[in-house]
Amino acid sequence: MSGKRDYYEVLEVSKDATDSEIKRSFRSLARRFHPDKNPDDAEAETKFKEVQEAYAVLSNPDERKKYDMFGHDQPGGSPFGPGGFQGVNISIDDLFGGGIESIFSQIFSGGRPRRRSRGTDLLVNHEVPFQTVFDGAEESIEIEALKTCEECNGSGSPTPEGVRECPTCDGRGRIQRIEKAGFFTKQVVSDCSTCRGDGRIVSDPCGTCSGEGRSRRTKQVTFTIPPGISSGTRLRMRGHGEAPRGSRGESGDLYIQIEVHEHPWFERDGSDLLMALPLGFVELALGTQVIIPHLDGSELRIKVPAGSNPGDTINLPSRGLPGRRGRGSVTVLLKLDMPKKISRSLRKSLDSLKDEIGTDFDSLEDSIRDEAQRRRRR
Ligand SMILES: [Zn+2]
Ligand SMILES: [Zn+2]
Repeated sequence: MSGKRDYYEVLEVSKDATDSEIKRSFRSLARRFHPDKNPDDAEAETKFKEVQEAYAVLSNPDERKKYDMFGHDQPGGSPFGPGGFQGVNISIDDLFGGGIESIFSQIFSGGRPRRRSRGTDLLVNHEVPFQTVFDGAEESIEIEALKTCEECNGSGSPTPEGVRECPTCDGRGRIQRIEKAGFFTKQVVSDCSTCRGDGRIVSDPCGTCSGEGRSRRTKQVTFTIPPGISSGTRLRMRGHGEAPRGSRGESGDLYIQIEVHEHPWFERDGSDLLMALPLGFVELALGTQVIIPHLDGSELRIKVPAGSNPGDTINLPSRGLPGRRGRGSVTVLLKLDMPKKISRSLRKSLDSLKDEIGTDFDSLEDSIRDEAQRRRRR
């Protein structure tokens, strides 16, 4: 028996749920666990993959029937192959409109030749300032990509007679033939040599695209960056990639990889922020208040208590970045800022303080022992 959860349980539906009930439940769960909404949350990522896998099986009539009969222990192993389910990259966008069906229906057709060609996916990098992690943003970029030729509408010819379906492959672009290999026969699929996989023959090519049906164009793409985004996240824009070859098939997708600039003083840990605050001995000893500008628009007031030690931390809850459970915290690490150069007069004043606040060498061994104990308790 495998330790996997029941697919119906994962999707929170009953065994006799209708297709639309399954779809509705999947959409709401996938939105809840989507990585864009749960940055750096490994548990949500696992859940996201789990609901995807359950939906992939239960939304496919054949696979659902098999699952109802055998559960997770199907003869022949996992329907996803030996590697198991790999997860699908779906954008939050996809979970609102239509379109998720086509993503999932491709999973089980793995390896079989697709008749419709699909345009190439594109990947672009996009840098944003750190402030965007707090605010989110509407951004717009210009990309250059092969798009359907506007002159011939992708047909490759200005006239309907100028282009016809390839007679060798019936417009499929591929040829299947049976080959004998020893005692066995096998099916071999290859690109059609007459049309070079295009599925059509252009006798009167379009002047703009020379019969390709596509031309290179620049296009403005607008997209939303959700608050809390982390560097390396890829936003997927369905259909914004390259146009397919020929007038049939669908465009590829555009992936926008977000690169977040470093903040001048904050380090980021999920939705928490960490900063170091160097203070002089006097401020650490007597306490002080430091006010610095902050990402959320109101000042960060850091109250340093009297008698603070270098290495102490001050926690400011709910002043970090937006996350799944509200805003994270800001942690301030206190450091001792030693004067770089000690002038003669400063040396004199420090010397005069030696008796009062300098190291007491008589009890040094005790101090070392106390310090070690404190450190180990931490
Ligand atoms: Zn052909
Ligand atoms: Zn054209």
